[in-house]
Amino acid sequence: MKSESEPRGQNQLIPNNFNLPRRIKRLADLAYNLWWTWNADAERLFRNIDRYTWEDTNHNPVVFLRRVPRQRLNAALHNRRYLEAYDHVLRSFDDYMKSGSSTWYAQQFPEHCNQPIAYFSTEFGLHQTMPIYAGGLGILSGDHIKEASDLGLPLVAVGFLYTQGYFVQHISEDGWQEARYTRLSFDNLPVIPVLDLTGEPVLTSVKFAGREIFARMWRVQVGRVSLYLLDTDVARNSDSDRQLTSRLYTSDLEMRVSQEIILGIAGVRALRILGYNPSVYHMNEGHSAFLILERLRELVDAGHDHETARQIIRKSTVFTTHTPVPAGHDEFPIWIIDKYFNEFWPKLKMDRDQFLDLARHQQPWGEAFAMAILAFRFSEHANGVSELHGQVARQMWSFLWPDTEVDNIPITHITNGIHTSTWLARRLSNLYNRYLGPDWLQNLENPVFWEAVQHIPDYELWAVHRHLKRKLLYYIQDRARGLWLQGNTHPVQVIAGGVLLDPNVLTIGFARRFATYKRADLILSDMERLLRLLNRPGMPVQIIFAGKAHPADEPGKRLIQDVYRLVKQHPNGGRLVFLEDYDMNLARYLLHGVDVWLNTPRRPNEASGTSGMKAALNGVLNFSILDGWWREGYNGFNGWVIGDDFSMENAEEQDRTDAESLYQTLEESIIPAYYDRSSDGLPLEWLARMKNSIQTLAPRFSLRRMLKEYVTEMYHPALPAHDTEKKDQ
Ligand SMILES: *Cc1c(COP(=O)(O)O)cnc(C)c1O
Repeated sequence: MKSESEPRGQNQLIPNNFNLPRRIKRLADLAYNLWWTWNADAERLFRNIDRYTWEDTNHNPVVFLRRVPRQRLNAALHNRRYLEAYDHVLRSFDDYMKSGSSTWYAQQFPEHCNQPIAYFSTEFGLHQTMPIYAGGLGILSGDHIKEASDLGLPLVAVGFLYTQGYFVQHISEDGWQEARYTRLSFDNLPVIPVLDLTGEPVLTSVKFAGREIFARMWRVQVGRVSLYLLDTDVARNSDSDRQLTSRLYTSDLEMRVSQEIILGIAGVRALRILGYNPSVYHMNEGHSAFLILERLRELVDAGHDHETARQIIRKSTVFTTHTPVPAGHDEFPIWIIDKYFNEFWPKLKMDRDQFLDLARHQQPWGEAFAMAILAFRFSEHANGVSELHGQVARQMWSFLWPDTEVDNIPITHITNGIHTSTWLARRLSNLYNRYLGPDWLQNLENPVFWEAVQHIPDYELWAVHRHLKRKLLYYIQDRARGLWLQGNTHPVQVIAGGVLLDPNVLTIGFARRFATYKRADLILSDMERLLRLLNRPGMPVQIIFAGKAHPADEPGKRLIQDVYRLVKQHPNGGRLVFLEDYDMNLARYLLHGVDVWLNTPRRPNEASGTSGMKAALNGVLNFSILDGWWREGYNGFNGWVIGDDFSMENAEEQDRTDAESLYQTLEESIIPAYYDRSSDGLPLEWLARMKNSIQTLAPRFSLRRMLKEYVTEMYHPALPAHDTEKKDQ
């Protein structure tokens, strides 16, 4: 595979060897391969050298190895158990990296191993120290490439290295979200510059709006998969162009179209420079759809007529759409397209009208160029991310296929999943090792292996769950202490930050992007009723909120403020909490440690959702609207539902009925089940539900299951025909 043999004329060496003692110098190799993030034993190699520095660096091995005191390294050198663990982890790492021919993919499809799949996404959620993701889409991309590595797919990924990343969220005393941006120091990230042999950055470029923009490339090694990140902050660009890749999802249209041109067009060119000739292109959401235009240009340049070129692209392109909200799709007004593509369409041997026809969309505000339309027109293989979302997407885009009945519209669905090793708590993983057998991780998408969850003794499962919950509360207290230490924090913010949480109380988690359709305030809609539940003697409830609103989403920010104002009020007794700056690290603590995971989108707007899958894997019970993945996952016992399997026309009426259903289920089922204890203090019904939830949901909503479906339903049908025929002979 590509990652093992670099193209000639390039240098992609790890930039830093940290002057480590020879015996443990390969910690540097681990630091520059994100494999360690989903292998707990590898993480411990860092942590066990110096726990304090590890925490202090927010689990960033690159910074850690630079900063860890020499005497701590020397102590590790003289610790036999440490060295044994080191040797063991490095052996696993080497075996993993060299096992190219024994992976699932190589075993199943040896004939396809040299047909790279190029995966494009604007965001990748790989680890909290790489803030190049905003939310669910990024986490899915990150999980996708981790699993591609585990299964041995010949996948290469393309995205952005944003110089400022996504913002850090701070909540003012009045509940207003403040977005803080800081410039990332790439020195501190596990990114490997792509340099030429003289040590200069290798550049990809694209011309638009009367100038040429250059981007350099950074490689992030994600197990066996290489992810190439583009960054326009190079000396050859003007000052303003150097800012183009500074932030995610800017609302400035020109900046946005520039970013998407860079991702799609300069991204394909970057792959060419790196020596890739992908057989399949996967666009994870429409932001990267301009890659179609670059491929069209290449094919026209090579002498193909438009129709042939279109057919070639259609066959080899996969498009995954992620949002059922029409406003969530990128569309550009025509003046922007004129400004940015007037030099480009002649290269396609097209005139302006032909070019605009590729993606023309009539909007109430005028004509637009729609990324999703471009993507659908040029992708024979398109999918939504849950069964319901597939239906909604077919309906929503039916106008693109005027002669086809809605049910036959060629948009299928593959329900999302999560990367199991990334999201599973280590203690639970140990429990699964003991009771599911040593092979469970190799067979994690096989439901049969999960039947053994029933053999986990109740007291053990409960002990691990209680441990994880205490861990969450310690973490929250520590953060609250950090707030107080800042000195300019009002005491009520410290209380809102969770200091009064109690590990013995039923704890509900609600953490997600604050978009109004997600209705964070649904559970707060009848405060009198909720306050009775929060403070009921003997069976209280506490609720932890977290989540960012997009900086330009004013209603989202007002929603945070509404929630925060209620959180600050004394009658809730400190049992309502809002935690700042939701990220992958906080997500992991919450999804390991709460009892119930609440999800209240206005149906059918949650295309899939994945956080609830992470909850289920960790024995946290879902309490959710029948939307997205939960509509497929719920079986009557493995959690609870809010509302019914239909959507109302009237949003207010929907909110009222959903709220009533929510309170009723909470009062009549969830709270009693949690507090109903056996003589030795175990909530038996609750534990039975936890086991049922783990057993039924962990295999099905794994990225392993999902990626195997992408392979057979999307990637392989997209491979050139003669290769698939060869297989049948
Ligand atoms: C999993 C995850 C998400 C996506 O979860 P949803 O269910 O789509 O809200 C968003 N942000 C973080 C940090 C996550 O870990």
